[in-house]
Amino acid sequence: MTVEVIEHDKLNLTLRIDSYPLDLVNGIRRYAMSEVPTLAIEDVVIIENSSLVYDEVIAHRLGLIPLRTPKKYIEAGQAQLMFVLDASADNATRTVYSGDLVSVEDKEVRPISNEIPIIKLAPKQNVKLEAYARLGKGKQHSKYSPTSKSVVKPTPLIVIKNPKTQKAKEIAESCPRDVFEVSGGELKVKNRYACTFCEECLKVDRESIQISEEPNSYILSIESIGQLEAKDIVLESVNLMIKDFDEFERRVDEI
Ligand code: SF4
Repeated sequence: MTVEVIEHDKLNLTLRIDSYPLDLVNGIRRYAMSEVPTLAIEDVVIIENSSLVYDEVIAHRLGLIPLRTPKKYIEAGQAQLMFVLDASADNATRTVYSGDLVSVEDKEVRPISNEIPIIKLAPKQNVKLEAYARLGKGKQHSKYSPTSKSVVKPTPLIVIKNPKTQKAKEIAESCPRDVFEVSGGELKVKNRYACTFCEECLKVDRESIQISEEPNSYILSIESIGQLEAKDIVLESVNLMIKDFDEFERRVDEI
């Protein structure tokens, strides 16, 4: 097996994986979406709410705010962390944002952005509540899923048979993924890994381009919502798969 890093930053990890079974690459993708746990608000105690928004709606909005999830809680396998929100509007309308939530027990556990709107308060209205974040998995509720993208595709293989085609510019402009460039009057492939096999370029000129798949080669692409770094999501997916395989082996062994 070979693994090549195509893109890597805190929120994105794209890998080219060769000579490894598709089933297992797809397993990593599925575990990333639905098995890697994160923290999200699960219980809310409304102490005061004089706004026009129902308590249940506020609780629902709080649950959907992604929270940074330190790895120590994933390793521990469980967690309950308290947040407090105490906001009021004096003489002008005020928007209450995720940044107004105060993390009581661990400042590392906080919303991934301070600018997620929760509620608008008219003058003299207020909201006061306690919220409790727990660890959960995407398969229980999508609010726990750490990924906004978790995709496997075959590695694209793009052959330009006629680089001097009259339609070079048209082909380059037809591609929604910016795969081609025209340089020195010739059509060239700039970023073949971005190809999604949509075939728009083939509609322009089927004779000059050939799009196919590299045999036994796949692209795994993970985009994090922000609770965990993309690399940690992939590593945790692999760890969880190994644990599940070990458990499966143990149970079969007991037969
Ligand atoms: S198949 Fe679609 S994404 Fe791929 S190179 Fe052609 S136009 Fe671009």
